[in-house]
Amino acid sequence: MSARPVLPGATLGILGGGQLGRMLGMAARSLGYGVVVWAGNYDAPARVIADRVLTQPHGDLEGTIELMRTCDLVTLEWENMPAETVDVLSEHRPCHPSASVLRITQDRLAERALLDRLGIPTAPAYGVRTAEDLHTAWQKVGLPARVKTARGGYDGGGQWRVRTETELGSLPTMDGTTAYRWEKEVNFEREISVLLARSSTGEVRVYPAFENEHTGGILHLTRCPARISPEVARRAEEIARSVAEALQIVGMLTVECFVVAAPGGGHDVWVNELAPRVHNSGHLTIEASSTSQFEQHIRAVCGLPLGETTLRSPAAMVNLLGDKSRARVQLTGVPEALSVPHTHLHLYGKQEVRARRKLGHVTALAGSPEEAVARAIRAHGALGFEG
Ligand code: AMP
Repeated sequence: MSARPVLPGATLGILGGGQLGRMLGMAARSLGYGVVVWAGNYDAPARVIADRVLTQPHGDLEGTIELMRTCDLVTLEWENMPAETVDVLSEHRPCHPSASVLRITQDRLAERALLDRLGIPTAPAYGVRTAEDLHTAWQKVGLPARVKTARGGYDGGGQWRVRTETELGSLPTMDGTTAYRWEKEVNFEREISVLLARSSTGEVRVYPAFENEHTGGILHLTRCPARISPEVARRAEEIARSVAEALQIVGMLTVECFVVAAPGGGHDVWVNELAPRVHNSGHLTIEASSTSQFEQHIRAVCGLPLGETTLRSPAAMVNLLGDKSRARVQLTGVPEALSVPHTHLHLYGKQEVRARRKLGHVTALAGSPEEAVARAIRAHGALGFEG
């Protein structure tokens, strides 16, 4: 563990220029750091908060050298960055999270192997490459199932729901070139995420669990506190701590979990997915927590003391997604949305709108999570698109 903190005045490099990079960059700037964003294109949400934007494709050698030249420390907003680039960068600058963390979390099969080794429960699953594997998975694990690409899937992309034998026909051809995970569909009671920060000094802080609702594989709504028992909360935290220690991660870690009814009564916690970064379900920490996930990540990677993760207020967050492809879009209903008490609107400045693209989010605070959910839904419902 490095003992010397990277102090404000230094410049932080962020791999990735999406909304997570934008909010991370804002937190870094308010702590007094310079920010270089390797956006990979000209139209990235994080471009406006950066002192410097790199537009070369990720993995490009010239971009790698430029980032090394201009930054004191490198972090990322997105785990699917080339691990080889992080290997090269980390020979010259501290890079958090490390390439070894990326190699595990970029691959659902490697991630699953880690969870198995730690004895952490997950949905029954089988690795699939060929038509023969597919048949074995169907026999061994059964239907209904979720078949997911081992690498690169996100927000429901690279993922197929197979409920019947006929629906097997909708799967891509298993020709041995691509790896997939055939996963039993879990009849969960609810979904939660546990966000944890681990600093380069080894200090760990865990946020209370957030409860998430997805539609079509994309996060729709997060509420906190989650409707779980203290026992489930304790178990989920224990899992997150053991994953963070096993990975030796530095920065934020998100553990997405299913809460399932246990055969003998009570509940079990199964892990669905790991993300070695800040997470959409943590956006409400900006207003609802003592320390936002973005500030916490910056503190963690820079080796500064971590902030309190206490919830200041019950809260809810609803994502604002694009409805259909539009060249130019005008958001309507902003005054109406902001007239809902204790409501905050975050827009990511995305130029191009596509169906289901994340364009912003609404967070509402209230005396109870139910009231916060009602406020967030009301504010979100006032928003629309024109053009
Ligand atoms: P993922 O990309 O794996 O995070 O999946 C996105 C969402 O799809 C999850 O948050 C769940 O709502 C749903 N999902 C994924 N895998 C399963 C499963 N095995 N059983 C039930 N729902 C799932």
